[in-house]
Amino acid sequence: MPRCSFCDRSRDEVRTLITSRSPTICDDCVGLARAYVDERFAGIEPRLMREPCEFCRDLIARCQFTAYGHVICDVCIGLCVDVLSEA
Ligand SMILES: [Zn+2]
Ligand SMILES: [Zn+2]
Repeated sequence: MPRCSFCDRSRDEVRTLITSRSPTICDDCVGLARAYVDERFAGIEPRLMREPCEFCRDLIARCQFTAYGHVICDVCIGLCVDVLSEA
């Protein structure tokens, strides 16, 4: 059973789980990550991060959301928001 890498809930416990990439992320975590980015990092320039995003492997980001040792950047969070809005 696939689980969300960012909250460790299984597919049964969330509305949508994006499994097209590794790590996986659920709709709740995308929402949380999106709120975090919008709240604190809306107007700032992309900069060099210490660890690459696990979705795009890019080191440059405005910010990253991390949980359970997994990393996603603001660009990939935006892509996930698009995927969810189409689902
Ligand atoms: Zn999750
Ligand atoms: Zn990324």
